[in-house]
Amino acid sequence: MNCPLKLSHRYLDFPSPFYALVKPQPLVHSRWVAWNSELARNFGLSKKAPQNEVQAFLFGEVTDEEHPSLAMKYAGHQFGSYNPELGDGRGLLLGELTNTAGIKHDLHLKGAGLTPYSRMGDGRAVLRSTIREYLGSEAMAGLGIPTTRALGMFTSDTVVYREKSEYGAMLLRTSESHIRFGHFEHFFYQQQHDHLKLLADQCIDWYWPELKAEAQPYVAMFRRVVEATVEMIASWQAVGFTHGVMNTDNMSILGQTFDYGPYGFMDGFEQNFIPNHSDYNGRYSFKMQPSIAYWNLTALGYALSPLIESALIEQELQRYKPLLSKAYSGKMRHKLGLRTTQGDDSQLFDDLFNLLNANKTDYTRFMRELSNLDGNDPSEIVDLVIDRDGAEKWLDRYLARCHQEVDASGNPISSQERCQAMRSVNPKYVLRNYLAQIAIDKAEQGDYSEIDSLMTVLNNPFEEHPSLEHYAALPPHWASDIEISCSS
Ligand code: AMP
Ligand code: MG
Repeated sequence: MNCPLKLSHRYLDFPSPFYALVKPQPLVHSRWVAWNSELARNFGLSKKAPQNEVQAFLFGEVTDEEHPSLAMKYAGHQFGSYNPELGDGRGLLLGELTNTAGIKHDLHLKGAGLTPYSRMGDGRAVLRSTIREYLGSEAMAGLGIPTTRALGMFTSDTVVYREKSEYGAMLLRTSESHIRFGHFEHFFYQQQHDHLKLLADQCIDWYWPELKAEAQPYVAMFRRVVEATVEMIASWQAVGFTHGVMNTDNMSILGQTFDYGPYGFMDGFEQNFIPNHSDYNGRYSFKMQPSIAYWNLTALGYALSPLIESALIEQELQRYKPLLSKAYSGKMRHKLGLRTTQGDDSQLFDDLFNLLNANKTDYTRFMRELSNLDGNDPSEIVDLVIDRDGAEKWLDRYLARCHQEVDASGNPISSQERCQAMRSVNPKYVLRNYLAQIAIDKAEQGDYSEIDSLMTVLNNPFEEHPSLEHYAALPPHWASDIEISCSS
């Protein structure tokens, strides 16, 4: 059949070593769990979950002969070791949808069955992990953090075995690109340098066409990847997000948060936070993310060495640390309501993190309460910290620092003005692990209502939602027993 959606499929223009043509293997009795009407509108799609032939296409039950689906080939460094065997092992690129702004977005069906790159896997995704990716990516989008998103998800009666029997589900993921650092690594290590060049040329053409006019387009491309990665990492650190599996095959060339697995938003502040229970050494802990991103960029730079002189790769890599430090401190400054920079600010920041870390104080709640100091009593903040004395001392210094703030004309900034700005960057709601778990537990019983109501706060996390206030509650005791690990 011809696809009822107006898809293009430019990835098919690549030569065959870039992918394998694979048809989706549909699930038994697929049915919608969620349809992202807000995102659908961006693509001119219906507000309601599609029915009939569009549904059949999205469920992988019928295929588009003109634009066959494909599994991308890539490789990557997993936990520091190179693995040449990777590729889309359970996801297929269906084609591209063009949004109302004219920008092409890949439509990727995750959980669509076996591919030549499935290795030991079954090609499937379970409802639990599909919901986690759907909610996680929407939470990031709501926070304004670069991310892939999802148009919808559906479950089925197909039984999939993990530690227990679960139901197979699929996610309809959208992104401007599904190209990973690992795509470049694959062609580099295979010594297919013509393909490496072709990939770089296409990336420039698709994502950064303005770079074609540069004297050194590949250097400029690498610089863009470094800059986009900096922005993503600074955003993660500022909001307290840990990806969990920062392998180079999970790193988007566009610096989007990509491949949501055992990720986590911090509850109590914890520099050593490790959301992935199989990451025994904490390679991908919260505090390691800035240096791991650098490691991954170095791996990408090495893979680009047939195209870029090594001294120039090194020069771009050297920019990473200062750029990250600037981006991150800029974000923290906003979060703390500081417009100007003063000599001992970094001490104030460090002391805050040490205080929060030592007391495992809830990060989101603390920052939000700090944003409410225009009306609320500071004791509400002190109550969040076990070391009350330490908290009071830090708050005194912080408030004294705030009083030194002036606007461009030299007038003092009122606490109302400061706090209003702070509330627009310190979310009241993040996707705490226990909130996702409640939504999963209900969905596994056939009740999807929690997903929709969570979406209301996740899409607008900086606003108050009085009737949904419970989504800002601190985690219950059972939350610490939730265990999440790779590839489910
Ligand atoms: P991840 O750690 O989830 O990013 O996955 C790493 C690699 O394993 C990717 O190439 C995935 O496509 C593949 N993979 C993960 N889970 C499965 C599965 N259930 N079946 C087949 N391949 C999988
Ligand atoms: Mg992956």
